[in-house]
Amino acid sequence: MILSSKGLDIKPSSTLEITAKAKQMKADGIDVVGFGAGEPDFDTPDHIKQAAIEAINEGFTKYTPASGILPLKNAICKKLEADNKVSYKPSQIVVSNGAKHSLTNTFMAILNPGDEVIIPAPFWLSYVQMVKIADGVPVVVKTSKENNYKATMEDLKNALTDKTKAILINSPSNPTGMVYSEEELKKVAEFAVENDLFVISDEIYEKLIYGNEKHISIASFNEDIYNRTIIINGVSKSYAMTGWRIGYAAAPEQIAKIMSNIQSHASSNPNSIAQKAALAAISGSQECVDKMKTQFDKRREYMYDRVSKMPYVSAIKPQGAFYVFVDLDSALGKKYKGEVIENANIFAKLLLDNEKVAVVPCTDFGYDTHFRLSYAIAMENIEKGLDRIENFLNNLQ
Ligand code: PLP
Repeated sequence: MILSSKGLDIKPSSTLEITAKAKQMKADGIDVVGFGAGEPDFDTPDHIKQAAIEAINEGFTKYTPASGILPLKNAICKKLEADNKVSYKPSQIVVSNGAKHSLTNTFMAILNPGDEVIIPAPFWLSYVQMVKIADGVPVVVKTSKENNYKATMEDLKNALTDKTKAILINSPSNPTGMVYSEEELKKVAEFAVENDLFVISDEIYEKLIYGNEKHISIASFNEDIYNRTIIINGVSKSYAMTGWRIGYAAAPEQIAKIMSNIQSHASSNPNSIAQKAALAAISGSQECVDKMKTQFDKRREYMYDRVSKMPYVSAIKPQGAFYVFVDLDSALGKKYKGEVIENANIFAKLLLDNEKVAVVPCTDFGYDTHFRLSYAIAMENIEKGLDRIENFLNNLQ
């Protein structure tokens, strides 16, 4: 039997694989430190859980409108207005099973076969696969360390063809933690308007920004860019709600309608109980976010400081999200127990086998010379894991 060539072309998520492998090693009694986490290690705050329990007890357990309940859409509109200075009507909001689902819906709504999407690298690995699922063509544009791994106008111009349909911007970024400034985003916006492109703005890490950096929503600049931007956000990262699966898109009305239609057939409404929980998260007190952020910030400082002092590797201080993107720099070409570290995959494998530390090699993020460390794990594990990485590096020859 011949199977779908498109389906066969989709790669599994290597971050989920690595996290699963580290979990399995732990379950087998091995003292492994997993730096793969793409989710906060905190529990979902109590008031959010309580809202879900109430939803169950009240029998809010049936189908809802496919694109989400009105109170949640209203709360999202209010949040977008207050936090991001963008005005949306509930009919422009589509609530889905996580931001991942919102992104897939977006590509399905805007792409025709062969349409190109510019994805600056390093990128969150799923974008490329999602574009392919929607019959589009991912056009990966390598950014430079000198520009803090952010796309320059030159990068974008070089990638532009008559098939370019959209640009993907992820700020704060997974895996680099970099945040685009207002000035940088304005240039991207001008470029998109000039060349008649959509902008998909993945703002899922918006609330996890440290120091003086500020999150700016590209759609907030003017009507022209607002009308061609699809904002992606959700509750997974900000409220430690990864398992609840609620994300959303805010888009021009026609795009939201297409996304809603697709979703109505593909998956119907996101979980009714989780929608009530997301409503409590978005409309309730934001104190829980600040508390988690304070912890993340301490870990960020510690991790960055330690990595900066390690031999052979280097990193740029992350400004947001919960990752440090580490450049293997002069570790490349060195040997560990006779084996040459040619790339991040080999490094990650040797590290896991010898020091029992799981890191994410960024090959599937468009950079096979870097690996990603997550600081969404307890401080004591961060300390232990970094000691081991340092020990590993000290043994390179
Ligand atoms: N966007 C980015 C950049 C992410 O890192 C992730 C999760 O890792 C998502 C979107 C998806 O989040 P969700 O749990 O809402 O599907």
